[in-house]
Amino acid sequence: MNEPSSVPRRAPVHAPMSQFAVENGELIVGGQRLSVLAERVGQTPFYAYDRALLKARVAQLRAALPSAVKLHYAMKANPMPAVVGLMAGLVDGIDVASAGELKVALDAGADPAEISFAGPGKRDIELRQAVASGVLVNVESARELPVLARASQDLGLPARVALRVNPDFELKGSGMKMSGGPKQFGIDAEALPPVLAEVGRLGLDFEGFHLFAGSQNLKAESICEAQQKCYELALRLAQSAPSAVRFLNLGGGFGIPYFPGETALDLAPIGANLQGIGERAAKEMPQAELVIELGRYLVGEAGVYVTRVLDRKVSRGQVFLVTDGGLHHHLSASGNFGQVIRKNYPAMVSQTRGETALESASVVGPLCTPLDLLADKMDLAAAQPGDLAVVFQSGAYGASASPQGFLGHPAVVEVLVG
Ligand SMILES: *Cc1c(COP(=O)(O)O)cnc(C)c1O
Repeated sequence: MNEPSSVPRRAPVHAPMSQFAVENGELIVGGQRLSVLAERVGQTPFYAYDRALLKARVAQLRAALPSAVKLHYAMKANPMPAVVGLMAGLVDGIDVASAGELKVALDAGADPAEISFAGPGKRDIELRQAVASGVLVNVESARELPVLARASQDLGLPARVALRVNPDFELKGSGMKMSGGPKQFGIDAEALPPVLAEVGRLGLDFEGFHLFAGSQNLKAESICEAQQKCYELALRLAQSAPSAVRFLNLGGGFGIPYFPGETALDLAPIGANLQGIGERAAKEMPQAELVIELGRYLVGEAGVYVTRVLDRKVSRGQVFLVTDGGLHHHLSASGNFGQVIRKNYPAMVSQTRGETALESASVVGPLCTPLDLLADKMDLAAAQPGDLAVVFQSGAYGASASPQGFLGHPAVVEVLVG
């Protein structure tokens, strides 16, 4: 009676994602049928990250970028210890944003010489932990300098520093802008010369500069332009530096496609651009190691969020699949993590009945708020309770970026598979 009047039969807009295979309506993750993986995990909801996809992504980047450019993983995108452990063995360095992340990186076996620590509000104890660990501190405020100098003196260890610069430009077309204009990140470019003098005066071990202009950018041209401008700016600032620049982090911002109409970032022009910058740097800053730091791009496409359908309700003609997971585990997919307009992440219903009919359905969670929406009126395989509802592009800014305590539902489990 209450069934929806029109049942679309056209293909889903962009699900399933092509990096994962589907067999008879069931998603394959890490070489396993999703229903079996769910049994192995022992509960839903869970996140699964595919080891082979993570390795393939790093290999693809290595092939596209000049070998002189070092690749760092910004672990805030996915701090699961097993993922950090895997990434530590694949990339050239790990970027941490707190002493908590620093612990995970060190536990994972990352080389402290290749760890850098950024963040606008580092506590004194965190700065001392950084010095004691021997990692590079990306200084974001002149306030950090005397604390680092004191730690260096007390411990008899060098305080390795790079200065994070707030450039006077922004990364065009970014999902999240993190430079240009007034910002809490880094030190304004025009205010840096006296800070550089202070670094020298305090006897800190100056290594170079860190620039990070923005996030989630799918336009190669904008990324190239920002990298070019970052390089020019660093070259200018190097003139005021107490010693030669040995480390130049040009940021990242590489995005992944989430929504219909978005296409994957074209790496070729970025590789060519970095090649050009590398050639200039070899002459103009011969000691500088060039670094790019990526979070989302490295891990985002390798992960899925898996929930189980608890109920299928029809309200005034609209189908609602009520699942055991939601925004408390996956804030980003609900559209409440930085998005201006809510759009659906790619999603699918994975089922074992060989169901081929599609219906328009909304996937919601168990929370008592209309914000708890994982998919809004998407064309999905006709689902029944017990089926699995999957959100793709979920390897970055998932579990750790979500308010798990909200409403007191069980915690999500994370597994690294394949
Ligand atoms: C968040 C962040 C990153 C990672 O950004 P992605 O968009 O996930 O690649 C890198 N560097 C800094 C300084 C960051 O704050």
